[in-house]
Amino acid sequence: MGKHWINGKHVRGETGDIFTTVSPAHDTTVGEYALGTANDIHSAVQAARSAFDSGHWPHLSGRERSEILHKTADQIRLNRNDLARLETLESGKPITQAEAEIDTTVDLWQYAATLARHTTGETYNNLGENKLGFVMREPAGVVGMITPWNFPLLIISQKLPFALAAGCTTVIKPSELTPGTTLKLALLAHESGIPEGVINVVTGFGDPAGSCLSEHKEIDMISFTGSTEVGRKIAASAGKNLKRCSLELGGKNPHIIFSDADLDAALDPVVFGVYFNMGECCNSGSRLLIQENIAHEFTERVLELAHTVPVGDPLNPDVKVGAIINSPQMEKIKHYVGSGSRSGARLRIGGSRIPTASGRFFEPTIFDQVTPAMTIAREEIFGPVLSILTFKTKAEAIQIANDTIYGLSAGLWTSNIDTAFEVSRAIRAGTIWINCFMDGHAELPFGGYGDSGLGRELGRFSIDEFTELKTVQLHVGPPKDSWL
Ligand code: NAD
Repeated sequence: MGKHWINGKHVRGETGDIFTTVSPAHDTTVGEYALGTANDIHSAVQAARSAFDSGHWPHLSGRERSEILHKTADQIRLNRNDLARLETLESGKPITQAEAEIDTTVDLWQYAATLARHTTGETYNNLGENKLGFVMREPAGVVGMITPWNFPLLIISQKLPFALAAGCTTVIKPSELTPGTTLKLALLAHESGIPEGVINVVTGFGDPAGSCLSEHKEIDMISFTGSTEVGRKIAASAGKNLKRCSLELGGKNPHIIFSDADLDAALDPVVFGVYFNMGECCNSGSRLLIQENIAHEFTERVLELAHTVPVGDPLNPDVKVGAIINSPQMEKIKHYVGSGSRSGARLRIGGSRIPTASGRFFEPTIFDQVTPAMTIAREEIFGPVLSILTFKTKAEAIQIANDTIYGLSAGLWTSNIDTAFEVSRAIRAGTIWINCFMDGHAELPFGGYGDSGLGRELGRFSIDEFTELKTVQLHVGPPKDSWL
């Protein structure tokens, strides 16, 4: 504890200063971490640079890289209980959910391991009799990765194994609120055979550690997941240094219920969609759009089910909604609840902090009579707050769904195949769920339109993100034409 992971070792930070993490549910100290400085970031980038420029990782065969990624997946599985407990203690999320996230993490590493053997290019044998063209993929280089606190291990695993599969080396700056599982992951990967310098982790805050990493001239790419506000800063530094940049940012995702939908089937996913991970989820279905002729009936059913959501100590396996990450986030949620009431929306349930001896818990909250112009229909709250709006026609549903700066994901429920496809095509978002919500698979790319981000993670497309294309042209046989 209290050290970075640089060049295959736990190392003390430049100043020796540390910071601590606190359990959002119990107010107890969870871990002590090195307070990263600009020089710590510089040491980590040097290690990653030398592992890329003169190390053997980028030159291993796909089979060799794949084997190490598979071993890492096995190690993650073996450490499931410890990782899940640490994730719950630092993030406040329910333990059963944390365990499920570790299982998904294993799957991501296994899937990325298969991609390591399928990083292919193209051959052009149609350029003329004496010509042959190859388009080859090469690893992009040193990738800086900056991650948030809401899904610490899952989000780093949407980036890291894919970058490793492509042959890149990495420097990671996890969230200052939840660095524990990322540090542990680096150690497990090392024990599985990842060479020194290929994964480096510097713990610390956005300023200076995060900003120094994103501004560092010796990285080749920055991959960021977090808020749209910080994402803009990252994109600005990447632009200044002409570095590749991929951004996974916020969302204000519409969840649309047409009157011809199977309402029994939609009910549980609507409630799950907004309260999963305490609503601290980029994919949260925080705007519920219900067709007017069923709005009253369906709203009442959502209210009734939301009342039953078990909130409490996230270490209790029966709990579905744990603790809010910290006091600023709690204040932000309260601010939006106040804004909803002041703007004329009707508070139907919740709206308050739950009084507890320790930790920070917030009631599942629902506003109806929300209009598209209200702040609670437009801004990402990142808490357990649902805004219910209504619409009359399909065209109006599409218009309201697209009336946002974001475009991460959307859900829709209908029994009409034409409605399903028409609306899926019309909504400007990276993922559309039809008659399901917040499903995900390693095979399917994920990312956002608009202010929700740039680029895609997951799927075989993720290899595109972490590789450069090189064109190689070959002349076959004696020279044919002279210039002079
Ligand atoms: P955040 O932007 O505050 O912080 C994210 C990371 O950036 C942290 O590691 C932080 O230390 C670092 N950081 C802060 N300032 C920085 C700077 N100036 N330069 C470089 N790094 C800096 O986000 P958060 O509060 O940790 O996470 C919540 C946000 O993340 C929400 O907006 C959510 O929607 C978004 N998110 C998006 C996805 C997605 O896949 N699209 C997934 C999860 C979370």
